[in-house]
Amino acid sequence: MIEIIFLGTSAMAPTKDRNHTSIFIRRFKEYMLFDCGEGTQRQLKIAGISPQKISNIYLSHWHGDHMLGLPGLVQTLGANNYDKTLQIYGPNHTKEKIKTLMETFPFEASIDYEAKDVKEGKVKETEDFVIKAFKLKHSAPCFGYRLEEKDKLRIIKKKLKEKGIEEGPHLNKLLKEKEILYKGKKITTSDICKVKKGKKIGYIADTGLCDNVYKIAKDVDLLICESTYAEEHREKAEEYLHLTGKQAAEIAKASNVKNLILTHFSQRYLNTKEILKEAKEVFENTKAAYDFMKVKVK
Ligand SMILES: [Zn+2]
Ligand SMILES: [Zn+2]
Repeated sequence: MIEIIFLGTSAMAPTKDRNHTSIFIRRFKEYMLFDCGEGTQRQLKIAGISPQKISNIYLSHWHGDHMLGLPGLVQTLGANNYDKTLQIYGPNHTKEKIKTLMETFPFEASIDYEAKDVKEGKVKETEDFVIKAFKLKHSAPCFGYRLEEKDKLRIIKKKLKEKGIEEGPHLNKLLKEKEILYKGKKITTSDICKVKKGKKIGYIADTGLCDNVYKIAKDVDLLICESTYAEEHREKAEEYLHLTGKQAAEIAKASNVKNLILTHFSQRYLNTKEILKEAKEVFENTKAAYDFMKVKVK
């Protein structure tokens, strides 16, 4: 199960109701942030998430609305004896920039961290999932991300009974080696297992339309996509390299997406009604994010 909480859903300027961009994603014990706009640590507090549990931060780009929350968060982690090594990923000399940032602020207590420059392709891999980065088309070097759970083999107990196979460590061996000899007979995973498909989530951060948005979106269970503008400001979207809600919906429709959530709304709109309406006309399974919106992908 993957849990997502939108900690901030505004674009360049925060509003009374919307904080700068940050998306919290939890996959079992793995606590991650995608972007860390100003005020993210307070949003975490309101959402009831302990910042101490965050282990990985993926920055899309270095525009302030996506990263200004980092120094504050790091200060709080240091003051609370953070016991992990914070992994920070991002484009455009992130490693160097984070080093400068850590030296700029006289933090009373430092934290262990590792900053990494993101290149296109696999950014992180664990036994259970991978995170891939895709270059976007924005006024600063920018990446979108895709979290892909790996497919898992599950043993069907009924099949074990049918085939007279007892439970035990030989089953772990079977899952690992895909085939074992059991009481002189060959057993393969296809005899007694089914495949549990891994879930996929895409995050399209600030961008104009480009080929990679479709690569991020392809076949995902949930697509989170920036929708800074409504169609009436399409020209502005194109000029400043952002998307409209309708364009986000067209990407979802063309990419076999299950659900679409729009976010990163310009402060010029009193609400997201128009953007959402335009998107839903193209792709029905669309929602507009709001701060502290919770979603589960299972
Ligand atoms: Zn932005
Ligand atoms: Zn930006």
